[in-house]
Amino acid sequence: MFELFKIGFISVTLIDIIDIALVSILVYKLYDFMKGTIAGQIFWGLVIVLILSFITQAIDLKALGWLLTLVRDIWVIAFIILFQPEIRKLLVSLGRNPIVKSFQKKSENVVINEIVDASFELAQHQHGALMVIVKSSGIAGIAETGDLINARITKDLLRSIFFPRSPLHDGAAILKGDLVESVRCTLPLSTVTEIDGETLGMRHRAGLGITEQADVISIIVSEETGSIAVAENGKLTRGLSKDMLTKYLNAKLSTKTEKKIQNFLNIFNKKNN
Ligand code: ATP
Ligand code: MG
Repeated sequence: MFELFKIGFISVTLIDIIDIALVSILVYKLYDFMKGTIAGQIFWGLVIVLILSFITQAIDLKALGWLLTLVRDIWVIAFIILFQPEIRKLLVSLGRNPIVKSFQKKSENVVINEIVDASFELAQHQHGALMVIVKSSGIAGIAETGDLINARITKDLLRSIFFPRSPLHDGAAILKGDLVESVRCTLPLSTVTEIDGETLGMRHRAGLGITEQADVISIIVSEETGSIAVAENGKLTRGLSKDMLTKYLNAKLSTKTEKKIQNFLNIFNKKNN
């Protein structure tokens, strides 16, 4: 079936090629994931045991073969015990995959609404705030300059963090997925010190600075004026309305699959009206 070509007596089918490609991708991803961790070293240990056991089988070393079979028989359990944290991390990162994420659209919209509501309530009270929303890769180095809290994003949590007498209000909060990953973080300052003749304060320069170095969106609530600004890719936009901020975040933070689903739903809704 689907035979493509023959090497000697071995016939190669399309299914074989897909199979080999998938295994290669999987092994590479696994290697990439474990590279530089303790798990990586253990992984190599297991690979060596596997290779040795193949060799002993091939040249029929009975005693060594017996010993390695013992190891091999318990290795699935050993694997789960040794790699428990990595397996967990892998499953979590699988859950953050954009394809899987597109099924969780609702929760993402809820998060955006919480962030927007919090920003506007903070602005109304003229409480200064600086929030960094991580888009693709994390910014672990920056998050570690503050206090890691990993708490679910809610409007009230954000309001409490930036309440001026709160011990956590200083610096930036890093928002990743539906969590406040870290608070009181120090961001790199932008070298831009004024825009359109107006000088930028530290909060605005810090919010702008991080977007020059990472794939993130900053939301800056001014303590002085109670206005809201966003920064992305080294560009600052000031004076956003609530509607503008909601639309902006929805457009920037939903994945391509989500946009496609949204477009489809829009067309579908129009037809039904
Ligand atoms: P505002 O309009 O709110 O006054 P601003 O841009 O004028 O903002 P400042 O008045 O200088 O800024 O705000 C100082 C606050 O900015 C500090 O209290 C601190 O919370 C925050 N900040 C200053 N530097 C950094 C930094 N490098 N990283 C994160 N936050 C910073
Ligand atoms: Mg100021």
